[in-house]
Amino acid sequence: MLQIKDLKKSFNGNEVLKGINFKIDKGEVVVIIGPSGSGKTTLLRNINFLESADSGIMKFQDEEINLVNPTKKEKLLVRRQTAMVFQNYNLFKNKTALENITEGLIFGQGIKKEQAVNLAEMALDKVGLLDKKDFYPSQLSGGQQQRIGIARATVLNPALVLFDEPTSALDPELVGTVLQDMKRLADEGQTMIVVTHQMSFAKNVATRVIFFDKGEIIEEGKPSEIFEHPQNIRTKEFLSVIA
Ligand code: ATP
Repeated sequence: MLQIKDLKKSFNGNEVLKGINFKIDKGEVVVIIGPSGSGKTTLLRNINFLESADSGIMKFQDEEINLVNPTKKEKLLVRRQTAMVFQNYNLFKNKTALENITEGLIFGQGIKKEQAVNLAEMALDKVGLLDKKDFYPSQLSGGQQQRIGIARATVLNPALVLFDEPTSALDPELVGTVLQDMKRLADEGQTMIVVTHQMSFAKNVATRVIFFDKGEIIEEGKPSEIFEHPQNIRTKEFLSVIA
């Protein structure tokens, strides 16, 4: 459903993505692991045009898009069908849990308020937080805020969800609830790309694991291949440090 060809991106002469070739099929859960600063977030941000590429082509559901100069229409096509879950939740502080979800539906998608509220309530129910719908972010734990971030991202059943280190900002005891929500989505067949340092999630939920280092895909394969039989020396070193 998504293919990236030769994606390159530099910041001030520092080449952060060095010609990435990447493909994800419908229903796959691709987990990207790798050292801090290796370019994982930048890769996700290029996929939904939060960052502009220096070169590269994207094929998204049969549409070929030049990543350097995408048209408004092409950006909209991808953004309508992808959603991102951020490390720091990115919730509106002055809006309730419910409003955080309805806002984009009403003003971004042009959905009528009543229907938007219905959709948002269903999404909150799925993550077990319907009883918190009138709470503001400051009244919720980090884990609850992130589950609202997930409800917001998935409310319109996007074709692809991008997770950027969704549990990194959480206290350890809150990580599990968020990972459970992500596992439920994966079990439902949601196509997703997950950047994470949670190796248990990569081992247990990923259909494919990518090891990323210094702006390049170094190695990819099934979790058992990457974790039990890594081929590349850099993958071996990374896993020996984090294990
Ligand atoms: P982490 O696991 O720590 O989040 P990462 O693998 O996601 O790291 P990126 O956030 O993609 O890495 O950053 C890769 C490199 O690009 C870093 O050296 C970072 O400083 C640089 N970088 C990212 N965004 C910008 C920017 N907007 N301007 C300048 N440099 C940037």
